[in-house]
Amino acid sequence: MALKTKAQYIESLKKLKPTVYMFGQKIENPVDNPRIFAGMSATATTYELAEMEAYRHKITTISPFTGELVNRFNLPAQSIEDLVMRVKINRILGGYTGTCFQRCTGLDCLGALSIVTYNMDQKHGTPYYHRFLDFLKYMQTNDLTGNASVTDVKGDRSLSPHEQDDKDLYLRVVDKSQGGIIVRGAKAHQTGSLSSHEIIVLPTRALRKEDADYAVAFAIPSDTRGLIHVVGRSSLDTRELDGVDCGNIRYSKYCPTLIFDDVFVPWDRVFMCGETDYAGEIVGRFSAYHRQSHGGCKAGKIDAMIGAAQIMAEYNGTSKISHIKEKIVDMIHRAETLYGCSLAASYEGKREPSGTYFIDPVLANASKIHEGKEMAEVGRLLVDVAGGYVADLPSDRDLKNPEIGPLLQKYLKGVADVPTLNRIKMFRLVEKMVLESADTISDIHGGGSAAAHRLTISKESELEPKKRCARRLAGIEE
Ligand code: SF4
Repeated sequence: MALKTKAQYIESLKKLKPTVYMFGQKIENPVDNPRIFAGMSATATTYELAEMEAYRHKITTISPFTGELVNRFNLPAQSIEDLVMRVKINRILGGYTGTCFQRCTGLDCLGALSIVTYNMDQKHGTPYYHRFLDFLKYMQTNDLTGNASVTDVKGDRSLSPHEQDDKDLYLRVVDKSQGGIIVRGAKAHQTGSLSSHEIIVLPTRALRKEDADYAVAFAIPSDTRGLIHVVGRSSLDTRELDGVDCGNIRYSKYCPTLIFDDVFVPWDRVFMCGETDYAGEIVGRFSAYHRQSHGGCKAGKIDAMIGAAQIMAEYNGTSKISHIKEKIVDMIHRAETLYGCSLAASYEGKREPSGTYFIDPVLANASKIHEGKEMAEVGRLLVDVAGGYVADLPSDRDLKNPEIGPLLQKYLKGVADVPTLNRIKMFRLVEKMVLESADTISDIHGGGSAAAHRLTISKESELEPKKRCARRLAGIEE
């Protein structure tokens, strides 16, 4: 099968029958739900770009596994160029959607699995790499979207998985048979799980031998029996349901909690089962890839935020004021340092024994730490430039009200030649990009917390060469 068009992607989601709950109600058809559909539309842009002349050559490439043209979101990097292109594509899509487009975590899982299943087989004689390759070819041939299911709900953080009172607080294998395994547990923050055809599960942390039941990796269709998607609340979500005051009128982000209520996984979809010595590596590889990915998408989102800041300044009549110009430059340099760090992580990547290329984890994690702080600063600068109405603009419904609408049109005017409605729309977009909780919290916790980023940097950084520099300069001989 060829690449899917955007329309074919949406059609393919309509054929899935996932179990979904939102705001206390069962959602029979998530594609028809405006809140969820806004998220699906963001993922659909990864298909749309493959249809567009200007971007097709960037987002598609020939897969060495199938010999066919595939979307890069389904190809673990086979070269430095692949690593670099993923950052460039993410920047384009971040600017195009102004939010999370949700397809990256699937690729991060494919990348991690393509390295670690190979390494596991070399050490343990397991059959995972070939199973993984079959799954990869299936994803590529059908141009599917995968969703990473990694973050366990974790219960008491001071205890390891097997020490928890309730043993299901980390996803685990509860039964095995000739046909496959049964798993139980829950994964949090599953951005785009309903925009995905496949859910790819990895362990959430390094594990000890006593935690063997928790060392499990597998992939299942997103509408598998026993899999329950409970869509989380976020700060602006009911606006999409109401269809007013949305800000970003095209795209959004939603994050379900995924409950695995005794879900059956056939053996041919199991990529790790009990190999605790590789749990840390698999989640480490996934996380490092995802932190590289963030540097691209968030630089792209900042591009849209810079555009909004500049337009708001023009609408407000403040674009020539020096401190406004300075603030916009401060936004630009933050986008470029994030992007630069993520590109550097790609250019410094290395080939692993399986043939997959892995990024430089120190640079990828440095990029993510930078993002955690600087995205907040970019948001602050944007609000500063835009003005106080980001906080409390009257609703679209007030503007349509025949009694007060004309008065609002008069009093919310900026410069004379810009329609009031345009200024209002841009205020709303600013509000959405800065204050939508589902999106902005991922700047801090997406791909792991800042402490996890620091841990990786500490583990992967060599201090001895740096000490040698200092000793030599100080004239100390040892
Ligand atoms: Fe992709 Fe993650 Fe960025 Fe969303 S937040 S667009 S999944 S890298």
